[in-house]
Amino acid sequence: MNELAINGGPKVRTKPWPPRGKRFDQRELKQLKEALAQNTLFYMYGRKTKEMCKKMARICGAKHVVACSSGSASLHGAIKACGVGPGDEVITSPITDAGTILGVIYEGALPVFADIDPLSYNITPKTVAARITSRTRAVIVVHLAGCPADIKPIVRMCKRRGIRVIEDCAQSWGARVGSRWVGTFGDIGCFSLNDFKHIGAGDGGLIVTNDEELYKLSWLSIDKCYDRMGIKRCLPFVAPNYRITELQSAVAIAQLGKVRGITSKRHRLGVRLTEKLAGIPGIRPHKVIKGGYGTYWFYLIQIDSDVLGVDPATFVKAVNAEGIPGGTGYVGPVYLSYEYLRKKTAFSHSRWPFTLARKSLKYGPGYCPNAETVMRSSLNFGIREELSAREIDDTAAAVRKVAAYYRSKR
Ligand SMILES: *Cc1c(COP(=O)(O)O)cnc(C)c1O
Repeated sequence: MNELAINGGPKVRTKPWPPRGKRFDQRELKQLKEALAQNTLFYMYGRKTKEMCKKMARICGAKHVVACSSGSASLHGAIKACGVGPGDEVITSPITDAGTILGVIYEGALPVFADIDPLSYNITPKTVAARITSRTRAVIVVHLAGCPADIKPIVRMCKRRGIRVIEDCAQSWGARVGSRWVGTFGDIGCFSLNDFKHIGAGDGGLIVTNDEELYKLSWLSIDKCYDRMGIKRCLPFVAPNYRITELQSAVAIAQLGKVRGITSKRHRLGVRLTEKLAGIPGIRPHKVIKGGYGTYWFYLIQIDSDVLGVDPATFVKAVNAEGIPGGTGYVGPVYLSYEYLRKKTAFSHSRWPFTLARKSLKYGPGYCPNAETVMRSSLNFGIREELSAREIDDTAAAVRKVAAYYRSKR
């Protein structure tokens, strides 16, 4: 067997990794020029935001689209539109971005975390059901890393109980279940246009829905509760200014034109990596649900330390030495890592909204066992549209080689 590169053996790959490609070109520039030529950058007066929302509706298959300033803003807007208020519980995933729960906390509601499936890293119908109480007002289903959660049964279950479903699709542009985009199954879908996502406009967020009422409430929720269509400004509730500008929408129009190409490329790369990793003892590829179409924002591999006798950090170091970039884990369960959740310090000198929580709601070690363990045993490989089959095959070859080495050492 080949000696590992980390021990002085030959590398699986000597060629450098492809550099980051050019994200913005003449198409974005043309849109930006047109936006500036309007002589207004306000979304209500210009045409770019309206056009961008229409384009998103057409692409994702939702009836209505609201644009705002960020993915976090879209989620906060969705929470408000769904009528989540003080003391309500919102079930979501503990493995996610801060933006998923910030709106929940701002509205005085309590995030309740459901455990994740150990191989798809998403919450499941079962783990959500286990967290439902009489206080549950909504569920935010995070489709992590571009791979769809088992959304259909979750929506069915929640509908029966009058619980709203919001889909956090910030990492899952173009991901589908069957032929339908994630974000169109629940009551509201939320997307991010931040600089790190599949497509970006610097910052920006989109709210998609098929419900006329939620659509109207979403606009109010992200624009100071100003009724831009009517004359009356009676402000029935408080809402932040999360407006998008025409400049962001202009860039987003051009980026939406590229989303199909970007996501289908990432899909092919992820599927190929899964195929190439199949059958390696001790290695478990990133799982996609049956009928799901993943668009791989990143790719996690579980390593079984019982089989390989090695920890993920040591394993990935050996893979890196073979000429393959990669790291370990993603984020830890937020109820353990966020100080404001552990110490109830969200709002300065007050312990609100945790003062409204039922006694039995307690965050701490053991709350979501899968979430706590799998993030400690996973490797994280970046998938980007600039990669080719070559990089995927080299990644799999390096993982195979390193796994074989450590198995032989047992
Ligand atoms: C990026 C992200 C968000 C927040 O998006 P921003 O545009 O950065 O506010 C929310 N949820 C998830 C899962 C994300 O990855």
